[in-house]
Parts: sequence; structure tokens; C-alpha cells
Amino acid sequence: MQNALESFLTLSLKMNPAAEASTAAAPAKAEDLWLGRRAPRYTSYPPAPFFHAGFGAEDVRAMLAATGEDEKISLYIHVPFCERLCLYCGCHMTVTHRAERVERYIKALAAEAALVERAAGKRLKIACLHFGGGTPNIMEPRQIDTLFEALRRHFDFSQNPVLAVEIDPRVLNAEKAAAWARGGMTRASLGIQDFNPKVQALVHREEPFEVVERACALLRKEGVTALNLDLMYGLPLQTPDAITQTAEACMKLHPTRLALFSYAHVPRLKPHQKALEDAGIPGKHELLDMDRAARAVFAAHGFVALGMDHFARPGDALFLAAASGRMRRNFQGYTEDAAETLVGLGASSISKYRDGYAQNEKDIARYEAAIGLGELATARGLHMSDDDRLRATIIERLMCDLSADIAALVDSFDVPLSSFAVEFEELKRLETYGIVALEGGCVRLTAPHRMAIRVVAARFDTYSREGANLYSRVA
Ligand code: SF4
Repeated sequence: MQNALESFLTLSLKMNPAAEASTAAAPAKAEDLWLGRRAPRYTSYPPAPFFHAGFGAEDVRAMLAATGEDEKISLYIHVPFCERLCLYCGCHMTVTHRAERVERYIKALAAEAALVERAAGKRLKIACLHFGGGTPNIMEPRQIDTLFEALRRHFDFSQNPVLAVEIDPRVLNAEKAAAWARGGMTRASLGIQDFNPKVQALVHREEPFEVVERACALLRKEGVTALNLDLMYGLPLQTPDAITQTAEACMKLHPTRLALFSYAHVPRLKPHQKALEDAGIPGKHELLDMDRAARAVFAAHGFVALGMDHFARPGDALFLAAASGRMRRNFQGYTEDAAETLVGLGASSISKYRDGYAQNEKDIARYEAAIGLGELATARGLHMSDDDRLRATIIERLMCDLSADIAALVDSFDVPLSSFAVEFEELKRLETYGIVALEGGCVRLTAPHRMAIRVVAARFDTYSREGANLYSRVA
């Protein structure tokens, strides 16, 4: 095991493009084959835009009933409220200052938990629970307690689940940190994006370093020591130097993990993002420079790059999962969570079952109305075919490992490698530019082109080829 870990670490450090940039910079022409292209982030395959309305609550009830008696599942809970709007936001959220609106929503979540229990015919055992949003910590301590009470009534928490919460540091206080800890929180992800005051003012997210430092202290005081910090590059006014400063500032907060997201500018889907265009969205080559600048800081501080945009220290559970080929990708990003079933509660939440995906009503009022009528709020979804399952496995391995043994994967699905002849033909072109290496039936990203992974994964996607303008730029 030790040797396997060491070789993973060596390979991971080799895959740090910042480290290699000075000696093995990629030819600009090769980068142009992927940089700035649009492709899904592959938090699911098939991607969510291909879920359809011909899939409903009845399908979800059947999938819940089919979960195993001893199966451990994961739970995602979406809290779609924020105190103010960040102009870069791409989430399903709405601004509210009305406690009664949050209260009504918590009642709906509790009722939905009861409906899931009834459809499954058992209290499902929880392995991991993730609260996302929106701003989950917009809830008051009393509301957090009420929600946990309901969740424990309808789900089995006896397995000591990993319990992660996305935290807006600006909205955290000592009482809320204590309530989350009472609920069993084990990990927090704190949204930062950028510490530069000019960038913060422009994107309407004013969050000084001291505010985040205080939030980290409040969480640690409650025993929550696993802290992720989320950064973003590609916003107007950002530069590689400024990103370097933000990354260095993050190191002073001693996170256990980091995520470095590229800004998804999709004003057609999120019209408020248009307000950022006057200040100038950075060009695709600037994006790459920012990504490399932040990576260089993380690597210098002992963090290992995992997948497309995560970083952890050797010994962290995500690092260990990645080192042994067990890292997974789901709607929350990269995870060590091995559960095959993920049940999503709340407006817009997506559930993943063995045989498909289901998404709840995005509109909060319609979600609450459906639940109020005693019905699951499923709005759309998709049954996976055998071909979907095979391609989902290939794409997940590529997104997690930046390589995939396609020959072995098709073999495990009893499908001949020749059925991917077209995909390999396309990959051969990328190989001539040094973007991927093909060895036998394996495909592997090369270090300077690590961020091409979404474009490489898209070669195996039969849904998105004609729909690329649905997605954000790659960098
Ligand atoms: S806090 Fe998060 S979810 Fe809320 S508006 Fe800002 S980016 Fe969006």
C-alpha cells in the first residue's frame, strides 16, 4: 500500500502543470484544441440538461423501493436561500430575509423525508450527508435543530455519517456553528472565491479575510476541524498575481482541502451574470495562467492536485480514495463517498439511483406545493441504458483519475473495445498534439493539458456533442 501511495504522489506531482510549465510548456496550438471550448463538468452522466419530463414520482418510488435492506445511501439537502446575490452565482437560489419563508421550506424538507421513508419502506441508512445551497447556514439554530430532528426520525444515522455543510462565512455565528455541531457536522466547505477587495466589490461578495478567519475559528471551537476552502478564478479584475495572493492567504487558514473552480459564465441561464461583462471577462489564456498560479502555491504548501480542481494533503480521506482509484464524482464535486444511491431533498435537488437520475422541481413554491399534497416533487429525470452506464463509468474514471483503462472497463461490461473505434480515432488526433497518451486501451491526460479533461471526457458523451453551448468554457 505504501508503494502504491508513493507512486500516486509522484504521479500527482508530475501532473502539476505549474511545476512543468517552465520546462515543458504546451504548444499554443495544442491548447487551442481544448482551451475555451465548452463541455459539461460531468457531475453526472448523462448531464442534467438531458433529463426529461417523461420521468416522474412513480419512477422514483420504484427506485427507492429497490434500495437494499442494508444498503448505505447518501443524502443531499438543498437550502436555496441566500441573504444577497453574488453576481457570479450559478446555483439554484433566491434572496430572502424572511425567516418564515425558510421555516416553511424546512417543513417541506421534513415532509419530503417522510415521503422518502414511506416509498423506500424503511429508514434508509445514511453514509454521507451533504448540505448545499444557497446558504445552508442561513437557517437559525432552532431551525437547524428542527431539521436534524426530522432527518433522524426518517433516516438511520447510526453509522456515524460524514456530514458536510457548505458555509457562507459572512452568515456564520457562534450559535449556528454550535447547532451544526450538535447535528453531527464533520466537515465544512467555506466559500471564499477571492480575497481581493476590488474583485469582491465588483461581484457583490464583500468578505474580508478576518471574516473567514473568524468562521474557521468558530467551527474549530466546535470540533469541526476538516475545513475545505473554495476559490474561484476567471472573474473580472482577477489576475494571476492576485490569485497567488488569495491562495497564499488561504494557506494561513490551514485548510485540509481546497477546491479551485473556474468561473462558469453562462448569462443565458443566469442573466444576473451579464452585469459582470462590462468589467471584462478574462480571456482563455489568462484563465490558464490563473489556474497555474494557484496550483503552484498549493503544491508549494504540500497539497496534491486531485481530479480536475481539488487539492488535499497526503493522508486526507479524499487523497487516499484518489490514490486507490476510489475517488468518485457526483453533484457535490469530488468525494470519497462510495454509496451507489444519493437521495436529494429540496427544490432542484438531483438524486442518483442505480438505474437513473431524478430532479426535483426547481421552483420553490411548486416544490412545496407538491410535497404539501403528499407527493414526491420529481419534475424530470432519466432511466440509464446499459450504454449510459458504461459511458458514465468511463467518464467518471477520466474525471477522477485523469486516465482510464477503457479496455478493462468495456470488458467488465462485456462490450468489445471496437465499439469505441470512433472515440479512439478522435483521441489519436489529440495524441498527435501531446494532449493525451494512448497505451493499449488506456487513455491518459498529459501534465500540461490536465485541464483538457472535460473535452477528453466529452469524446465519450453521446448526448452533449450537439449541445456544447449549454456549458461553460474549459480552463
Ligand atoms: S452565497 Fe453562494 S449560493 Fe448564495 S448567491 Fe452567493 S454564490 Fe450563490
